[in-house]
Amino acid sequence: MFWFKQLKKIYVDRQVKNSALVKKILDHLPNLPVRIVSSLEEIQDELRLAPDPVSESKRMLFLTREKYFIRPCPCTPGCVSCDYWTLDLNLNCPLDCSYCILQAYFNHQPLTIAVNQEEIKKELEVFFSRQNKSVIRLGTGELGDSLALDSLTGQAVFLAGLLKGRKRSFLELKTKTAYVEPLIEISPSENLVLSWSLNTKRIINSEEAGSASLEERLATAARAAKYGYKVGFHFDPIIYYSTWEKDYEEVIEELFKQVPVEAIAWVSLGTLRFPAKLKEIARARFPHSLIYEAEFIQSWDGKFRYPRPVRVKVYKRIKEIFETHNSGDRLYLCMESSEVWRDFKGQNKKGKPEASPFPWLI
Ligand code: SF4
Repeated sequence: MFWFKQLKKIYVDRQVKNSALVKKILDHLPNLPVRIVSSLEEIQDELRLAPDPVSESKRMLFLTREKYFIRPCPCTPGCVSCDYWTLDLNLNCPLDCSYCILQAYFNHQPLTIAVNQEEIKKELEVFFSRQNKSVIRLGTGELGDSLALDSLTGQAVFLAGLLKGRKRSFLELKTKTAYVEPLIEISPSENLVLSWSLNTKRIINSEEAGSASLEERLATAARAAKYGYKVGFHFDPIIYYSTWEKDYEEVIEELFKQVPVEAIAWVSLGTLRFPAKLKEIARARFPHSLIYEAEFIQSWDGKFRYPRPVRVKVYKRIKEIFETHNSGDRLYLCMESSEVWRDFKGQNKKGKPEASPFPWLI
């Protein structure tokens, strides 16, 4: 994996130094210095002194244990929730997108892997016993790319095994990589959804450092779909720039050339949004990025967004393109207000998603 080269040091939490997964990871990365630490603070003390702590955090690997893994997706206050749950085995990401919220969200967090993944089994049992929704969606891609660390951890296959046989429960692995090899070696799990974040070639090239190209992502998605997996796509963040309409249309047309509608579990749309703190950090780290130069308004949750008419125009146009491929029903909005949902859906007066927003999955 490309990003192994950027690693400078491995830190192992004293509590897990004898774990089998720690041994496996250290065997994979034999040439890196290893330091045993008693707490995260010891690493954070080093990170605080770095000129660019975010970049430096991506060069430090921390192997530790977590107490809890599953949380309701934080969404944002005042937005229509999509009832998503996050399952976090890793914190931070080796890729480096200029718009990544994690730059502002984490406080000196190294690339962190919870090696006590076996402990998730019990928490999942309790979680499922308390769910009564028609469709349950869980995903690992909230606090880092779902598959970027997988060649070290083997988490994807491990999690696929835990979800197997759970009717109407879907685990989503969301990525900007083209790494699905271990998943192509097991029989495809009907409740594992492999998802790709998509963007225009221009945005991928200028804003998503370390990610796979659009061609690689779509080819891998097509391969996964052909193998029997459900696939998902996330147009998020959609960036509004002079040729956005033509460029996103090209991406969608290419998507449908390669992936059959029947294989698509869902597609989310979300235009660029960010807290003020992120803009400050990203401008310093990515001085050539132009995505923060557009017109934004500060919205109800304190985040900056494109003005509502712009967001609605973008969502409606993308929906029109999906409808020409009979797949407008696969779309939902991420972190949007009920007013924008209403404008987008038309018929849904309260702006709330339907009781079963993914009827083709059950
Ligand atoms: S892939 Fe996702 S988590 Fe990783 S840097 Fe990009 S936006 Fe952040």
